[in-house]
Amino acid sequence: MNKGQLIVVSGPSGSGKDTVISKAIERLGEKAFLSVSMTTRRKRGSETDGVDYYFVSEKEFLEHIENGDMLEYAKYGSNYYGTPAQPIKDRIGNGEIVFLNIEVQGGASVRKLIPEAVKVFILPPSVRELERRLRKRATEDEEAIQKRLKIAEDEMERAVEYDYIVINDDLDDAVDALISIVKGQTSKNDNINEIIREVFSHV
Ligand code: 5GP
Repeated sequence: MNKGQLIVVSGPSGSGKDTVISKAIERLGEKAFLSVSMTTRRKRGSETDGVDYYFVSEKEFLEHIENGDMLEYAKYGSNYYGTPAQPIKDRIGNGEIVFLNIEVQGGASVRKLIPEAVKVFILPPSVRELERRLRKRATEDEEAIQKRLKIAEDEMERAVEYDYIVINDDLDDAVDALISIVKGQTSKNDNINEIIREVFSHV
């Protein structure tokens, strides 16, 4: 049985990290899972409650924090975002690979809490490209785009806190890079006991 893995992925809005993560999960198969976060932000057009996020009121979100249900949470822009703890615990216990798509404050909280988590930062090829992608997406108004660009700048300065950097210029290359990181982790020496046990389990 493989040891579960926790992969934290951060990167500025417009870095394309959502797509990179979902394609990597698709290729890794059923043992890979994306944590569904809770948020107080409004649902965008194509999003589904319980799939993309659990969309809740601020009151409900604060109650979850109070009850200790969250692994981590942060305020991003004017909204709260957080990771429900129980599914993560269950999936990792089950030997699954769990991806967290979270911003940098959440990334820092997870690092303190779970130092074994692997932290990957996804960067756009340039700030200009980042702005172009944000505008093309057209899901936010100008004020929100400006806010996200400002946050993106601050976030990119914190890329140094991460174990790996992936530049999302060509999507397939970025997905390959993320998968290599995950697979490399599986064969890392601190998993040696699990690997040896597995190799010899049929002997
Ligand atoms: P968006 O509104 O574009 O879906 O997400 C905004 C930011 O919030 C993204 O950087 C995303 O990674 C981050 N985010 C999503 N879920 C969580 C979460 O559970 N915790 C934290 N800390 N950040 C999150």
